[in-house]
Amino acid sequence: MELDASVHEHFMRLALDQARVAASCAEVPVGALVVKDGQVIGRGHNSPLSANDPTAHAEVLALREAAQVLGNYRLEGCTLYVTLEPCTMCSGAMLHARVDRVVYGAAEPRTGAAGSVLNVFAYPEINHQTQVLRGVLADECAAVMAEFFQQRRKEKKALEPHPLRDWALRNVDADFADLPHWSWQPDWRSDLPALQGLRLAVVDQGPADAALTWLCVHGSPGWGYQFRNLLPELLAAGHRVIVPDLPGFGRSDQPKKDRQHSAQWHVQILAELVQALDLRSVVLLGQGDGGLLGLQVAAQMPQRFVGAWLKDVWPLAQQPDSRLHWFEQAARKPSWNVARAMGQVEAQVEPAEPEEVRAWNAAFAKPGHRAALKAWPRVQQELPGLPAGLLMQWAQQRHLWLQAAETAQPVSAAQWQTAWLQALPQLTLMDAAWRQTPHGSLVPAQSQGIAAAAVEYFAPSSVAR
Ligand SMILES: [Zn+2]
Repeated sequence: MELDASVHEHFMRLALDQARVAASCAEVPVGALVVKDGQVIGRGHNSPLSANDPTAHAEVLALREAAQVLGNYRLEGCTLYVTLEPCTMCSGAMLHARVDRVVYGAAEPRTGAAGSVLNVFAYPEINHQTQVLRGVLADECAAVMAEFFQQRRKEKKALEPHPLRDWALRNVDADFADLPHWSWQPDWRSDLPALQGLRLAVVDQGPADAALTWLCVHGSPGWGYQFRNLLPELLAAGHRVIVPDLPGFGRSDQPKKDRQHSAQWHVQILAELVQALDLRSVVLLGQGDGGLLGLQVAAQMPQRFVGAWLKDVWPLAQQPDSRLHWFEQAARKPSWNVARAMGQVEAQVEPAEPEEVRAWNAAFAKPGHRAALKAWPRVQQELPGLPAGLLMQWAQQRHLWLQAAETAQPVSAAQWQTAWLQALPQLTLMDAAWRQTPHGSLVPAQSQGIAAAAVEYFAPSSVAR
């Protein structure tokens, strides 16, 4: 009796249910059924791991159950449905059982014995009765397998240890727990070649296929926590945010020696991260010198970036002495108060909450953990000039925001704007690039709603590409 395709698909769906049972038991998801006269008389889901049994393949289990039901080791008149092309063992078992027909879903190019690697059913000497029907719901069957292995790779990656290099230090994760306005757990990465095995903290939130991805790069001496007030609005817009802590800062590993830090190294790590995550339609959200590092990445791969929002970013050639002095103090004085400095950067009117003080100090709290601060004046010197062409291109496309620090400490917004105009005189004509309130003052860094305004400004619907 020939059955039409819909009947085969019906039973294959039931076999897929068995495959999903296997997946839920952390077994490779293969499911099988034995059907006789339109009735399911045997079921099996792959379970060699849980049964400690190398023969506990879905097909074998389904054959066993069917034979019990029939009270006969011959399964004549039966059809076996299986989501994956059977192996040699199962194909052999089916021949022994004399099933009429085997119907499988996805091909198995490495171990398949019904046509892929070999075809046990094609030898007339050993097979007189079993027909093979291939590719029923093949895509669905293959997708169940692919999803399972993808999930398993992810889980494995999450569990992968990131051993601490002997030339690096690691902060205690608990020191960063339960911070106000900060609930995002990082993905840990040590797989980027430039990291040389260091563990990097990267917050990655929002959908992978979002219309915009915000690459948030903090400056010294901060970490990703600097973006805590902006993330909720960016995520609420359905966008993706990527917030790395640069090595030596925040929760990422810290090289012991300040000479490990170089501008080129930080740029390379960020570039490798952008490539590893295959980020596209990226807006660089750069804070302080993190903005300069991010601009170098964008200059290397401009096709991945659509623009930049630069907060308190300075053209270093025009950097005033007072700002330079600030970083030199941080480099020289072991007692330099990071939390107080970050309070200045964020221009807190109120004294910082104790938990915020903890957030800023946690990265540098222990002796020897200040190599990044020591290195930073030199890192600034090593940074190449601004990618003027790219910046002007973004400005013309209205894809550039330049925003002063909220505070006049250590330098005023007017000094900052003058520095930018010295570096890029054409910006004089680019009114839209300056983030200003209707009253003409430069927008405070933490003011409410600014991230929503950024979403409106940079979102694809408002932008002609
Ligand atoms: Zn098998």
